[in-house]
Amino acid sequence: MRPYREYWSDPGMMTPPTLRPDEAMKLEDLLENIDDLVILATTDGKILYVNRAWREKLGYSQEEVHKINAHDVLHPMQHRLVAVNEAKLMAGETLRDVQRTFVAKNGNEFFVEGFLNYRFGKDGKPEYVRAVFRDITERKKAEEMKNELIAMATHELRSPLTSIIGSIELAKRHPDTADKMLEMALRNSQFMLDLINDYLSIEKLTSGGTPLNLEPLDLSALVEGTLETGRGLGAKNQVRLELGAVLDGAKVSGDPDRLRQVLTNLLSNAVKFSPENDVVTASISRKEGFLRVSVADHGPGIPENFRGKIFGRFEQAEGHKKGGSGLGLAISKAIVERHNGRIGFETGNGTTFFFELPELAS
Ligand code: ADP
Repeated sequence: MRPYREYWSDPGMMTPPTLRPDEAMKLEDLLENIDDLVILATTDGKILYVNRAWREKLGYSQEEVHKINAHDVLHPMQHRLVAVNEAKLMAGETLRDVQRTFVAKNGNEFFVEGFLNYRFGKDGKPEYVRAVFRDITERKKAEEMKNELIAMATHELRSPLTSIIGSIELAKRHPDTADKMLEMALRNSQFMLDLINDYLSIEKLTSGGTPLNLEPLDLSALVEGTLETGRGLGAKNQVRLELGAVLDGAKVSGDPDRLRQVLTNLLSNAVKFSPENDVVTASISRKEGFLRVSVADHGPGIPENFRGKIFGRFEQAEGHKKGGSGLGLAISKAIVERHNGRIGFETGNGTTFFFELPELAS
């Protein structure tokens, strides 16, 4: 550890601490070993002290710290904010929950929140600013994602709800249409419920709230079983579900309910987009330590400008909406990735969606 003297690098600037050297050592030890970013700097930005967390987060060595200005790590957009805060600090206020964007030496940006105040000398002039910041990048990202989801979900729920109200009003005014209108209201209510369930499901999956019940699974048995239960779904659209090539006995470590959910979603999309009287084929293949489950259809394919967005939340291709929530593939992706797997598709004449999971050694 550096001796205590060195760390008050500019003793002329401030009143020396009234601590004994061994107490100061402990204090420095504390500052050097916390996660918060601590900085003391003159009001024009000359750095007097920064702790280890600050140096590591911002990517500057102990030597480099003295060659830069404290304002250099602030995002350029924030310089105006500094001027606004200056007046309050000069009046002796402590600023709390101040949010800033810092830019590290390598250009990485991150958000911090913290407190700032000035230390004033006997002459009433500010000697230096004390600041402690905490990295809130992850929290901020989670908040943004949540807000985005809420905005999207409320937007998506508006149209079925408007339609339900419209149906009920019509049924009231024209009792002869009541049956048809209530039928429509029921369909839209079911749609809203599905949407909310999907929304909750993805929320839980991505926040880690849904534990996976992993067990060794015979993938062929899982695919066959899911096809069996999915047959009704195909029959309604006169689409046949067929089992293609499988690998008997090939195993993965997986949560059977969740993996069935992924496969059912891929099958139901394939059926929805298949021409009538067509065939959808599910098969299994092996590739570089992974087992791939594929679902192939002969539908219209995925429009080029939609391919990059297809696994996003609430995404549906223009002109290719068939009453879903736009969350099915996002949920499938979350499930597959929780299994350390990957999901993708090939498209042209028809589409083949697939997911790959690490094969368990037998
Ligand atoms: P949805 O609930 O709308 O089906 P998904 O996330 O499962 O939501 O699918 C998103 C969109 O991807 C669909 O609305 C559709 O535009 C497109 N899509 C998915 N599967 C297929 C497919 N097999 N063929 C063509 N388009 C598809």
